[in-house]
Amino acid sequence: MEETVSLDCPYCAQAIYKPLSWFKQTYFTCPECQKGLAAGQFATLVDDLEQALDAEVEVMLKGEPRSGCCKDKMSSSCCNRSSE
Ligand SMILES: [Zn+2]
Repeated sequence: MEETVSLDCPYCAQAIYKPLSWFKQTYFTCPECQKGLAAGQFATLVDDLEQALDAEVEVMLKGEPRSGCCKDKMSSSCCNRSSE
């Protein structure tokens, strides 16, 4: 699964719309201004995006997030069966 993300170039401030892995290359050039960029310049942003994406995947795997009393797994007896 390849997520396409948009990050701003630190030189020309144009949004670069590329797959997440593209921003992890050791060295690449901005498609807009052709200046050299390094993965380190985007590391923090990429980390944040990956964490956000991981959280989304987790929600998809688990189905809808628990709400109300079942949000706390320790008290799952209250409305656990309502969706079945
Ligand atoms: Zn640029």
